[in-house]
Amino acid sequence: MVGNGSVMNEWKMRELMCEIGRRIYQKGFAAANDGNISYRLGEDRVLCTPTRTSKGYMKPDDLCIVDLDGKQISGKKKRSSEVLLHLTIMKSRADVKSVVHCHPPHATAFAVAREPIPKCVLPEIEVFLGEVAISPYETPGGQKFADTVLPYVKDTETILLANHGTVTYGTDLEDAYFKTEIIDAYCRILLLAKQLGRVNYYDDAKAAELIKLKPGLGIPDPRLTLGLENCDLCGNSLFREGYGQPGPEPKVFIHPKLLENGQATSTGVACQVPSHAPAPAARAAAPSTNGHSAGTDVDALVKAITDKVMSALSGAAS
Ligand SMILES: [Zn+2]
Repeated sequence: MVGNGSVMNEWKMRELMCEIGRRIYQKGFAAANDGNISYRLGEDRVLCTPTRTSKGYMKPDDLCIVDLDGKQISGKKKRSSEVLLHLTIMKSRADVKSVVHCHPPHATAFAVAREPIPKCVLPEIEVFLGEVAISPYETPGGQKFADTVLPYVKDTETILLANHGTVTYGTDLEDAYFKTEIIDAYCRILLLAKQLGRVNYYDDAKAAELIKLKPGLGIPDPRLTLGLENCDLCGNSLFREGYGQPGPEPKVFIHPKLLENGQATSTGVACQVPSHAPAPAARAAAPSTNGHSAGTDVDALVKAITDKVMSALSGAAS
């Protein structure tokens, strides 16, 4: 039996979900009927957006309630098929109360290019997003699609879905939504800076200073548990093992220290790559698990590194 307080709370959440939907639509993060939002009302009750409805024009009554397996409990409209993605995240993370999925154009451009989100560029990103993962492509809608995020879900709250969009999650509706705003604004800034022709990076020591601020702000970071001295903060990915072979490699936004690693020089940086985790160049050069040569990757990587070195040299000379 649901008490009166819970009914009030549920109505407030319905109104807030419609408000977040308006923001998503007005920001251009979800064209037409794209995107979906969810909020965990109770142990096995999740409020979610209906299918084929614009997120900009939802009314509290339009929303659906499903159980954690996606079975619809209430609502006159059918629940979105992509709610399985939301439920998979909620089942893996007891702390997650809300999930937002949409297609914000700048972040989705990175998801289409499968370009890893660079670190050590903007301090706010380090503090409020931490590391961002890219999950592999799968046909949207089913459980197989939902399961693509599983290797990364515990270590981040912002995931790019390859060739699709973003999924962000957190402790309440606004927290989940804000991460979408932050990742899209960051990707927009990166693309603008790239057009100016230069992207500057800060180093591992400065990244460590930012990560150490996070506990004071109540923001957890898995790299604090791993020990910052064992983390390659600006370069290699925390998700290296989750990605398997081969993971997404940076082709456009490459931290200078990765170029140094690619040339196998001693970098003298504050955080070294842990011994179980080779640098991207070494990883690409290793034979892949299925026994085929990873030669194409090596060629592409060598070309990318050479291009970067050449452009760095010409920049230094001018
Ligand atoms: Zn989608």
